[in-house]
Amino acid sequence: MTSVGIIGLGLIGGSLARALVAAGVPVIATDPSDDARTAARAAGMQIADDVATLCGNHPSMVVLAVPLRAMRVVAGEVSAALDDAPGWDPTVVDVGSVKGPVRDAIRDAGLAGRYVGAHPMAGTEHSGFDASFPDLLRGIRWVVTVDPGATRLGDGVPTSGKATDPDRLAGVLRLITAELGGTAAVLTDDAHDEAAALVSHVPHVLAGELLGLVAGAPVRDVALGLAAGSFRDGTRVAYGDPRRTEAMVTQNAAWVAPALRLAARDLEMLADALDSNAPTGWFFDRPEPLRDRRPRQTNGRTPGGVPEIPLRETAPPPEQRVPLEGDWPAELVERCSVGAVVVLMERETAVLT
Ligand code: NAP
Repeated sequence: MTSVGIIGLGLIGGSLARALVAAGVPVIATDPSDDARTAARAAGMQIADDVATLCGNHPSMVVLAVPLRAMRVVAGEVSAALDDAPGWDPTVVDVGSVKGPVRDAIRDAGLAGRYVGAHPMAGTEHSGFDASFPDLLRGIRWVVTVDPGATRLGDGVPTSGKATDPDRLAGVLRLITAELGGTAAVLTDDAHDEAAALVSHVPHVLAGELLGLVAGAPVRDVALGLAAGSFRDGTRVAYGDPRRTEAMVTQNAAWVAPALRLAARDLEMLADALDSNAPTGWFFDRPEPLRDRRPRQTNGRTPGGVPEIPLRETAPPPEQRVPLEGDWPAELVERCSVGAVVVLMERETAVLT
């Protein structure tokens, strides 16, 4: 059975540890904070005092659940521990919100051959172990990123010559789909970072802008007294740790900056139309193709207890089966790049819908 070492017991690492322990997976975790370690011990977890001690327990998978700015340092610590344990062969996984820069840090630490990237597409505006809860990471969508290496993915795909190890990829997909009851889109780092910019990083920026607009307005206190659902929903993530958001946005600058320019251009055009009494329907009608495709995930919590608007019923996507032979990771990337997700890992087959 997979045993998992979790470095960083904050919102995500703590939630992962709780969910895996509840699923019966052996977990050992650590965090620099005495308070977090004490609280996790009190919650019944096996806790190591530091990264070296955690690695000394030789878990078969090591998950870096630290802030993006700490990934490089922690990857170096794991690498040093590996030098001291010649027989230990762990898979190294991270949960970072941006994938390209983490892979660079992992490669620089000499861990590329054992690395599989992962990003749980769930979160809250809170931080730390006290904010963690197991349902946050149960039954959710993950992105699992691979380095396709020199595969048949086609022309134009950058390769490093260090393709992701299929056995390690299968192990991560099994943990997500079985023990965590989730689904996984297998993508390249670039595909993840481009998509995550649109559905996570830019929304964080815009939430900050909404809150910042009010913070600087002369009518601030009156406005806050009137704020209801639209302001609450639009600003929720702006109440989180600003350094965490800043790290996510700056590390994905290559995809976030162009998307922000497009948004700024559209808003500028709308403002011009309002000033000149020109038509504005083009702006408000543009989301029409997506109005019946609201995100389904609630992370175990319905925001504010408000009932969700029901989605239009659509037929479930057909099942796809990919034998775990040949260059099957590339096959998964191809299928997931057009919307499929892995829902089950059988012994010799990946099942997607
Ligand atoms: P968090 O609640 O702030 O937790 C991070 C934890 O890592 C803290 O307990 C922190 O300890 C610890 N840490 C910091 N530096 C460390 C180091 N050098 N060695 C070991 N542990 C260290 O943050 P989070 O939200 O869980 O984020 C963790 C990762 O998940 C990030 O990479 C983020 O991009 C990703 N992620 C976050 C979300 C989200 O919604 N929050 C969603 C998906 C993915 P101290 O508090 O003592 O510094």
